[in-house]
Amino acid sequence: MSAVDVAIVGAGAAGLGAARALRRAGKTVTVFEAMSRIGGRAHTESDTFGMPFDRGCAWLHAADRNPFFPEAEAAGWTLHHHDMGVDHLYFGRTRATAEELAEMAGAEAALIEALGGTTELTGDRVSELLAATLGGSAAGTFSGPMDFGQDVDEISIADLASAADLDPNYFTLEGFGTLVARWGGDVEVELDTPVREIHWDGPGVSVTTDRGTVEADKVIVTVSTGVLSFGGIRFVPDLPEDYDAAFDHLPMGLLTKIPLVVKGERFGHQAFDDLLIERRGHGDIYFLCFPFDLDLMVGFVGGDFAWEIECAGEEAAVDFATERLVRTFGTDARKAIGKGAMTQWGSDRWTRGAYAAARPGQASARDVLSHPVADRIYFAGEALAGPLKQTCGGARLSGETVAATIAGAA
Ligand SMILES: Cc1cc2nc3c(=O)[nH]c(=O)nc-3n(C[C@H](O)[C@H](O)[C@H](O)COP(=O)(O)OP(=O)(O)OC[C@H]3O[C@@H](n4cnc5c(N)ncnc54)[C@H](O)[C@@H]3O)c2cc1C
Repeated sequence: MSAVDVAIVGAGAAGLGAARALRRAGKTVTVFEAMSRIGGRAHTESDTFGMPFDRGCAWLHAADRNPFFPEAEAAGWTLHHHDMGVDHLYFGRTRATAEELAEMAGAEAALIEALGGTTELTGDRVSELLAATLGGSAAGTFSGPMDFGQDVDEISIADLASAADLDPNYFTLEGFGTLVARWGGDVEVELDTPVREIHWDGPGVSVTTDRGTVEADKVIVTVSTGVLSFGGIRFVPDLPEDYDAAFDHLPMGLLTKIPLVVKGERFGHQAFDDLLIERRGHGDIYFLCFPFDLDLMVGFVGGDFAWEIECAGEEAAVDFATERLVRTFGTDARKAIGKGAMTQWGSDRWTRGAYAAARPGQASARDVLSHPVADRIYFAGEALAGPLKQTCGGARLSGETVAATIAGAA
């Protein structure tokens, strides 16, 4: 006999969204979470800087479709519309001219147009498209490592082309992670309880943790494709081969934040300005400057370089970000720079990266995972959020959609 209708693995936006929707539909659920908190890749903490800092998601993307946005508004939170686009561009130490800045904006627009266009290519790599349409450009840094968490030669054109335009984008002072934790706070979750095995050889599923086994009619698995690809959960019997292949075809990209306290100096920037320091196409760093006028410059590195810097460690990352600012704005800049930090989503065994990006030629892997196995094992999360892939709002909608399917099928 089933102990619950549905077991849910993971208490991030997708798992919490699924749990809330199933509860509303009158279903019994058990939610298992490996971490000692809810929210997953949505996590705000104030310990590091004494002010809210989002270690994971921060932008409320696609606010007109993002279910978290009206909740932040209703809560009366401080919201800021962020018009994304590079305001300040440097090539190494040299400030880009107004023409070069305009050229980059034009190149970005051309890339977006080319994504939906008819350029004849033999492959499915964004790097090929950039070479064919733009001759390679700084625009690739933004759509590649900083947005998709992968270098442009590892991004599928089809996968990037099917991602939504994420405007309008908002920030909240209180933190996106705080918003997710507040919204999901009424869901009962078994914390510190990693799921080790899912048996599906019976009529339902048995979900095994270190604290015992729960029987359920169905299970919704919301862990990242990185966790699944690393074999973080054992399925008995094995999943069909195309599911295993899909996990591998959707590797995790990485975005690493390197926030620095900067006091008494703004380097000519306004709150929320976007600063990009290019470094020969590898090791570029983007800074979100002084959000909400706080004394913080949040550095971002993405793709292969993010994995490199995470391996090098927090001290090396803070040194790197500091040196970029010092070389760009002069040695006096060092006096203004205080404490720094680095996020570590790549080495976190419960995430194994920032978000999934299909390998070139493998965009259809997302479709494979959107079909349940034997009407019992469902997948949900940011990797399966359709055009809102990679986003927290999309992850929640994905969990809610799967829950609605299960509730409707019963
Ligand atoms: C640095 C960074 C910046 C980002 N910026 C943005 C942004 O600005 N805007 C935006 O919308 N999105 C952003 N994202 C992406 C966004 O955070 C994610 O898309 C979203 O939070 C994913 O939600 P999810 O529920 O799919 O997965 P998760 O949040 O990863 O939830 C899955 C949960 O499963 C748990 N788990 C893993 N293994 C097990 C197991 N074996 N048993 C039980 N539990 C397990 C994990 O601990 C986790 O809590 C960012 C992500 C990162 C890392």
